[in-house]
Formats: sequence, structure tokens, C-alpha cells
Amino acid sequence: MLRSHDDKVKELLGRMTTEEKLGQVQQLTWTGDTGPGGGQTKEIEALARAGRLGSVLNLHGAKWTNDLQRLAVEESRLGIPLLFGFDVIHGFWTTFPIPLAQASAFDPAVAETDARVSAAETRSQGVRWTFSPMMDVTNEPRWGRIAESSGEDPYLNAVLAVAKVRGYQGPADGSGLRSGEHVAACAKHFVAYGGAEGGRDYNTVDLSEQRLRNHYLPPFKAALDAGAATVMAAFNTVGGVPAHANSHTMNSILKGEWDFDGFVVSDYTGVMELVAHGYAEDPAHAAELALTHGLDMEMVSTHIADHGAELLDAGRISMERLDDAVTRILRLKYALGLFDDPYTDEAAEIAGPTAEARAAAREAAARSMVLLKNEGGVLPLKPGGTIAVVGPHADSADQHGTWAGPGRLVFDTVSVLDAVRAAAPGADVRHSGGGDPAMAAAAAWAADVTVVVVGEDSAISGEAASRSEIDLPAGQQQLIEAVAATGKPFVVVLVNGRPLTIGGWADRAPAVLEAWHAGIEAGNAVADILFGTVNPGGKLPVSFPRTVGQIPVYYNREATGRPYDEAEKYVSKYLDLPDGPQFVFGHGLSYTTFTTGAPELSRTEIAVDALERGETVEVTVPVANTGDLTGDEVVQLYIHDVAASVVQPVRRLRAFERVTLAPGEERRVRFTLGAEDLGFWTNDPAGTYVLERGRIDVYTGTSSAATVRGSLRLV
Ligand code: BGC
Repeated sequence: MLRSHDDKVKELLGRMTTEEKLGQVQQLTWTGDTGPGGGQTKEIEALARAGRLGSVLNLHGAKWTNDLQRLAVEESRLGIPLLFGFDVIHGFWTTFPIPLAQASAFDPAVAETDARVSAAETRSQGVRWTFSPMMDVTNEPRWGRIAESSGEDPYLNAVLAVAKVRGYQGPADGSGLRSGEHVAACAKHFVAYGGAEGGRDYNTVDLSEQRLRNHYLPPFKAALDAGAATVMAAFNTVGGVPAHANSHTMNSILKGEWDFDGFVVSDYTGVMELVAHGYAEDPAHAAELALTHGLDMEMVSTHIADHGAELLDAGRISMERLDDAVTRILRLKYALGLFDDPYTDEAAEIAGPTAEARAAAREAAARSMVLLKNEGGVLPLKPGGTIAVVGPHADSADQHGTWAGPGRLVFDTVSVLDAVRAAAPGADVRHSGGGDPAMAAAAAWAADVTVVVVGEDSAISGEAASRSEIDLPAGQQQLIEAVAATGKPFVVVLVNGRPLTIGGWADRAPAVLEAWHAGIEAGNAVADILFGTVNPGGKLPVSFPRTVGQIPVYYNREATGRPYDEAEKYVSKYLDLPDGPQFVFGHGLSYTTFTTGAPELSRTEIAVDALERGETVEVTVPVANTGDLTGDEVVQLYIHDVAASVVQPVRRLRAFERVTLAPGEERRVRFTLGAEDLGFWTNDPAGTYVLERGRIDVYTGTSSAATVRGSLRLV
């Protein structure tokens, strides 16, 4: 889609000097500090005037963007506009739930709405590029950046990445990029960043070709098919080669097999880090390796710009490769309409969350929450009597999650306490912060029901925020135990950015609501669910381990050679732990009940060549609301290829649909399985996708523990 601008790009490229080309592949960050030590801020203005800068990272309002842009457009020799980029990960002014929470909605419309609102707020300030979506599949809850991911399943990550790209950019043909409401997306981090050993950020990733292709690459391919204009390289190594200089992933797969016509930006100082990795000897070598192995734009460090000329002279990089990198960047600038309309309308700047955006964020937050447990009908609460709201997160505005806050003005969230008060005006709502468990217990004694709000501060999930223990921070479990000891009914609300090990107390809690870091409307959304205004329907996009020692524990693992029986294929064998995770992938309850029937397949056999010609198998799953309330169920379809030349996961999610059913209502949900669902990638480094003859089991139900099965034979 971006190649359609190549005539104009070619003409412009022909007029550029080597210095201008090397500037075009550079992105610098504006810290706002122009005084001594003001970093790159001082250089940015001079380089923009000189036509030696391609992009600026940051966002400080429409006037700031226009002022800087004017230097490039009106004072530089060729007038090439700057491309402004910024991390808008789950909302700019209007923070939506963190991506992991959005994944829990099992509803692409939630992700698309976030992206649409984010794009409008960002674009109105002159920034036309966001470093999102993140699509790093991960089964590592210790890794802080799991908060930015869609969890442990490649298919779910892919579906949500596509929804985000659509929300940011508009249609896959790129026609929305020029509109005043869209921004370019960035598929990141390429690739396998979620595989960091031990969950320590930036750590080594060593993996087989089949794991790379079946597990980590599919969301990227899907995002690029949806038109994602840029890709960001990952900080980790992939099979011993840093992703920033990985010719296999960038040149062979991304630009070769996939024919990607956009550009690859480094991550923050990622080119410089090639030296620390022990892959490049010095900055010039780092520049050479990154550029020749497929990287197009350098973020913050300046090795390509600094050493490009000498590398060209020495024949260590080619002008052809530099021209290709510049071409890719200019293509996007044309596609965004920057040459025709480089400025933004300052009068139309969106300066804060609108009421409409807040309403969308509230709905998204409620759809993202997962009811993990609800025994004895504790929930929904009645909006009367005495309600105690206790715990360190009860009266906290810190619910935005990672990538909100520092560096930008954050609008207050409504706390759970305030939201409960607003939702239950007739109730006597009492509060205890929970610093002293005895005070919280006293409040619980005096109340009909207690809401215990515990979890993680935003700062302990996200980048460089890995944890070796993922239980509740100090004192919070004691608080729950003190409340439990009263014997009175209570519900635990979790406010957090990653799966937590809650086995120590979850058995004693009658009800647990996973609220996540749910953004600007978090408190209201929690109250919507607590009082049943909204019936929860979210599902876990990642397994919740019982203990840290059980990690990694994920549903889509390979079977071992020693499964004693079918059920035991899914066990994690430790002597000192019960089988499986605390909560499985896909788990989540409702205030109503559902049944799903056996999958009905339109055919039980299909020829491989028919699949290759585009024929499909329809799978119909009956689902019924058997309870008394209208509610949502996520019908899920998993497959298992029972004998394959590469051992296949015991379950692979291939389809899902979130449906709303009235009491007594039945629906027949229809899924389609085609060639892209039923095959897999082999270990061939050149990329071989196979559809192998044999039996494929099809499981349907309401979590990854689904045991209702049908079978399909590929012949
Ligand atoms: C993160 C990226 C982010 C970049 C720019 C890096 O530290 O890894 O995800 O886009 O910073 O802020």
C-alpha cells in the first residue's frame, strides 16, 4: 500500500544529499529541557532547520508540534516534514484498560475503540505515529511488560493487534492515514520479546524456528496484513542474534517473505545496545550491522547518522540500502499527507478526555474485568445496608497502569470508594485504608459486606518492572486474612498489571474480581460490576500460576511423552502442587450461567488440496443462557492436531465469540476453520507452512479446559 507513493519518493530522494538521507533515518527525543544537559532537545531545532532529522519522539501539544514542524518545512532546504511519534499505548488523555485487560474482554471492539479514541486525541496534537500495538506473546507473568501484551495466545494477540491497527489507521489499504483522525501504527517488538528468560526484561530469547513462526510471528503478520505501517525492533536476542541486527527476522522474513513496504524503527537506543550485547565492536560497527540487517530508523542513539558517511566511503554499507531505508520512511510521510498538510489545527486540539471518550473507557473497563470466583452469591452486591470498602487501592487514583503518567498530565480516575458511594447512595459506606489489618477487620465486622481492594501500584508493572515474586505486595494478604477471619461476606477486587499468585488466600475468599489496571474509569467500572449494573463477561488471556515456581505454566504447551490419560495431558507435575494453574486461560464467570453443546462440524473430512483452494469447515456451537440474568459468554474453539511432524500444542485457540444472551435464550455460534487455522510452520528457516493429513480434534466450550470434542480428518 505504501509503494503507491514511490514516484514522488524517488524524485525527492534524487535531490537529497547523503547528510540529508542519514538525517532522515534518525529519530531524536525531545525532553522539553533546553538548559544544560537538555539532551537532544537543543540539537533537534538545529537539525530540523538543516533538514537532517527524520522524526521526533514525544508529544507536548499542537503548538509545540507546529513550531518544530515549521523549522523543517519552512527553513530546511527540501522542506521534508518531521514525523512525530509517541507511545500512546492504551489511551492518551483517556486511559483505557491496559492491553492485558483489554485482551480479557475477548472482544476486538474494545481494542478498536481504544485505538480510535487514542488516535483522535494524539493526532489532534500533531503526532501522527504511535508506538503501538504491542503484540508480544508471553507466558511470563514475572515480566512487567505482560501488562502491555495480549497474553499467552498467538491468535488472541493477532486478533487484537488487527483491531488496534484498524482503530489507529483505518482501513487496511491505508486510505485513512491522511484523515485528521488517524495515526500510523507500529507493530512491536519484533520479535519474541515476550520470551525473555526468567521474565527479566530485555533478557535472552533462544528458540526454534517453529516456535518463532507458530508462536511469536503470527500477530505481526496479521498486523501487517491489516496495514500496520511500521515495525519496532525488540531489545532481546533471537537465537543469539540481537533483534536490532537480525537479518533472518528483518531482511528474510519481514521484508523478504512478507514483502513489508513500511519501515523498521529501532527501540530506544537499541542500535547503541548492539555493543553492550557483544555483537558489535563499536558504534560504527553497530550502525553497519543494524542498517545492513534491515533496520531503517534509529531511535535516540545516533550511530547511523554519525558514522554513515564513513561507512559508505569504506563500502561497509551501501547507498542502495540507505536509499531503501529513506524510501520507506518517506513513503509513510507521503501516505500520512504530511507533505500537503504538515501542520495541525491548534484550535481543534483535544485537550482532555471528552465525556464521550470517558463513557467508552468505562464500558471498555467493565468489559475487561474477569470474575474469577463467586461463591454463595456474594456478588452482585445490594446497594443498601453497610458496605465496608477497605485496602490500599480502595481510595486510590492509581489505576491507570503502565504508560500513563510520567511526562503527561494524567486526569484523575474515580476511586473504587467514590464509585461505590455514588452507586449505592442509600448504603452506609465505610472506609479503611488497610494499613492496619485490625482496623480493616473492625470495619468488616460492622458491615454487611466488605469490598477489599488490593493489588499493584502502576509503577510495579510495565517496562523494567519484572518481579521475582508475584504475590500481593507486603501486608495485603494479611489484610485479606484479617477480613476473612471475621466470617462475614467479602469480595476481593484485584487492581494489577499481571497475573498474581493468589493461591495463598483465594480459597478463603468467596468472590474475586480481577479488575486489572483499568484506566481512567476504573472505579466506576468496578462499581458497575459489583452492583450488577454490568454483568461480568471477561476471560483470562493468560494462566494464573499457583506459585512462581510453576512458571511457565500456559495452556498451549506441547504434550509430554508421558501423559497417563487424556485429562492428565494438561497437568503440571510438581510433587508439592496440585495440577495445573490456579485459573486457566479463558476462565471467567458471570452472574448468570451458560451451557454450551458439542461442536457440530459441517464435514468430518476435508482434503488438504480443498483447504488449499480455500474451502473451509463450519463449526456450529450451541450456547444457552440457563440463568436468570442477561449476560455475556465467550464461546471458544480450540484445536489439537493429534499427530504432527512438529509436536503441536495440546490446545490452540482458533476462534472465539463473545455473545450476549437473555435468560433462556439460545444461540448457535458459527465458526469457520480454513487452511490458516489447521496447519502449522515447520522448522524450515525458509518458512514452510504445512497442512498435514490426519486427525485434528476440535474442542469447544467456555475456557481452555473445554473437553467437549469433535473431530476432523485432513485427507
Ligand atoms: C520501549 C518501547 C517504546 C520506546 C519509546 C522503549 O523503552 O521498549 O516500547 O516504544 O521506549 O518510548
